[in-house]
Parts: sequence; C-alpha cells; structure tokens
Amino acid sequence: MTAWSNRQYRNNKTIALVPTMGYLHEGHLSLVRLAKKHADLVVVSIYVNPTQFGPTEDFSRYPRNIKRDLKLLKEEGTDVVFTPSNMYESKIFFSINPGSLQNELCGKFRPGHFEGVATIVLKLFNVIQPQVAVFGQKDAQQFAILKKMTKELDLDIKMIAAPIVREPDGLAMSSRNVYLSSGERHSVAPTLNTALRFIQDAFGKGNTHAPLLLKKAAQIPKGKLQYLAAVDPETLLPVKKLVPGTLVAGAMFAGKTRLIDNITL
Ligand code: AMP
Repeated sequence: MTAWSNRQYRNNKTIALVPTMGYLHEGHLSLVRLAKKHADLVVVSIYVNPTQFGPTEDFSRYPRNIKRDLKLLKEEGTDVVFTPSNMYESKIFFSINPGSLQNELCGKFRPGHFEGVATIVLKLFNVIQPQVAVFGQKDAQQFAILKKMTKELDLDIKMIAAPIVREPDGLAMSSRNVYLSSGERHSVAPTLNTALRFIQDAFGKGNTHAPLLLKKAAQIPKGKLQYLAAVDPETLLPVKKLVPGTLVAGAMFAGKTRLIDNITL
C-alpha cells in the first residue's frame, strides 16, 4: 500500500483517504464522492477495527459484505480499496490517547473506543500517507478527536467532514441499521432525529436555554435514550446557551441496537 502511495507522489498525484468498516451505504459513498473533489486519487480502507469495540460490543457480528462493497466502490470510481486482514502486532504497547475529549458524549459509555479509533486512523494515515482524509459528521465526536489529533501531532493532512446522509424519515444511515427489526426501524429508530430537530426548531424560534430544551427533547425518543447533550463542537464540553455552531448529539437504543445522531445548529 505504501509503495503504491509513494509511486503516486513521484507522479505528483494527491491521495484522499476514506476510512470505513465496510458494509457500505449511501453515507459512505457520499464521502467517496467528496474525496474525489479534493484529490486526484481516492483510497477507501475497509477494516473492522477490533480495538475500538468494547468486550460486550458487536465486533464479531458486525455486518460484513466485502463483495458488495467492492462492487459499490468500483461503480464510484474508487482507485484503491485497502482491505487489510490485520493491522496489529500480536502484542500492542503503544496507542493514541485522546485525553479528556474521550470522556464526553459517546466516550462516557464506550471506554477505550476513541483510543482505538485514534490509533487505527493514525496507523492508516502512516500506511496510506494521504494528504486529505474524509469522515462523516455522523460521528461528530470522532471527527473532533481526529481533527485535534492531526493538529497536535503535526500531521500534514487536510481533514474534511461530510454531511450526514439520512433515510427519508430522518434516520441517519448506518451499517448497524440492518440489526433493527421492522418495528424498531419504523417506529423507534427515527425518533432520535425527531428529538434533535425539536431542538433545532426551538433554536430557530429564538430559544437558547440548553438545559430546558434538552429536558423537553429527551421526552421524544421512543427508544432508551443513553444521552442527549449540547456541546461546543471542538472541546465537546456542555454549553448552557445554544449558539450557531453548537453541536447537539445523542445516542439511543432501539431494542438492542445503539444508534447515534447529531445536528450542528
Ligand atoms: P463506519 O464504516 O461506520 O466506521 O463509517 C465510516 C465513515 O463513514 C465515518 O467517517 C462515518 O462518520 C461515515 N458515515 C457513516 N454513516 C454516515 C452517514 N449516514 N452519513 C455520512 N457519513 C457517514
């Protein structure tokens, strides 16, 4: 992979990377299209990274369909699909610790997750050597952490966040939506987005008191809400007053499936 990248650089070509865990949907493909606008060549990585899953999470049953993924990526004109079977030494000593950024939002409920994410993304950066990397705003905390990582570790990589691609009823597309039963999919899953839109609408009408609006919005989801928070998009710390740019993010269980969503006011 690295040899290929070096050959491209010798020919003055730029490379954009789209890291994924596969089981691709329209959200992933939108990242590929955006990546193409920012570089000569697009590399998509598909790797279900074990170090970002907790011991009780869905690593072993995470959906996979590499044949279909390759077909979709070919149709998008992807230049290289990087599909390593393993990215780790048998014993690991080093990892990237995102500090207090991993204590907020999803990080509170997924200890070690963002350390796993930051480490694998840095490894992918080192192997693929992109000048541009494209991520989804769907994983807003992930993007905030990775953007900070590139800055603090002096990586010369342009970090781009792409808008969330949604189903017609507002549900954010996710590889995990395949876990949902038909009842969960139709009556429960979209209600996290309904709660977020309630806050956005209220903000549009001039309401800026975050604690009050969050309390009201928390009544809306029909699944088990794990958290709903309004935070500064960079520090991820809670804010009391909503302003343009405030990140409102939440996680909810629809049955056993954990769903996340967010909006930027
Ligand atoms: P994943 O395969 O779930 O790790 O996601 C790979 C990349 O696709 C991440 O940067 C995600 O934020 C992004 N992504 C996932 N779902 C969506 C979506 N519905 N819209 C936009 N980007 C997404």
